[in-house]
Amino acid sequence: MTKTQWVIFDMDNTLINTEPLYVNASNQFAKLMEEYGRCDREEVKRVQNKIDAELFTQFGYSTDRFAESFERTVREMLSIGIYRSNDNFRELHREELIKLARKIAMSVFDQKSIEYSYSADVVRKIAEAGYKVAVITAGERWVQIKRFDDLTIRNLFHDCWVVLRKDERVFSDFCIKHDVDILNSWMIGDSLKSDIIPASNIGLNAIHLQTSNWESRDGKLKVPPGVPSVQDLSKVPSLILGIKHA
Ligand SMILES: [Mg+2]
Repeated sequence: MTKTQWVIFDMDNTLINTEPLYVNASNQFAKLMEEYGRCDREEVKRVQNKIDAELFTQFGYSTDRFAESFERTVREMLSIGIYRSNDNFRELHREELIKLARKIAMSVFDQKSIEYSYSADVVRKIAEAGYKVAVITAGERWVQIKRFDDLTIRNLFHDCWVVLRKDERVFSDFCIKHDVDILNSWMIGDSLKSDIIPASNIGLNAIHLQTSNWESRDGKLKVPPGVPSVQDLSKVPSLILGIKHA
């Protein structure tokens, strides 16, 4: 059987921009806390961000992590003595405040994410050049399937894997399943830890996208040697197709 050439895309912050959904929810939550307890919005966001990052090891990409980070922020802010400043909230019980906070967090997963303006064009170009295209995304199944189904170019994809965590095993299994020509196939994503390093370790070519996420702010991981790092997906076709036609 002939091996096939693939381009595998990460989804969140690669094909779609999910960041604004989380930022909006954090802002809404910070506003609620400010109205409730006369606390500083920026401080609420700082505490929530810190807790969210800490919870990542335990919860991974689950929807529960984000909601949990809101709940723990409420508890922490209340424990350091913020007080009710607004009559509207005088009767609001702590547990109700937590419920409201969790509801704001969960709203992120019901909303349609924003596809980058260039995503459809990039995927189409690559598919037309003869590559099979796929998505491998980490997260909770119902959320990721919904986001995948919302893609305008959904029908171009040959496969979509939703996994709890992306590691070498996942990329390796994908390549075995589809008899992938590893040396002539690519992984495109914004996460060094979940996309670039594991894919690169099993021999796939990789292109790193410099989307802002916790990891890029953290700065501990480095782009592997020989892996191009570009601003966004729109720069990808010339890199891949340039090499293919060279
Ligand atoms: Mg991503």
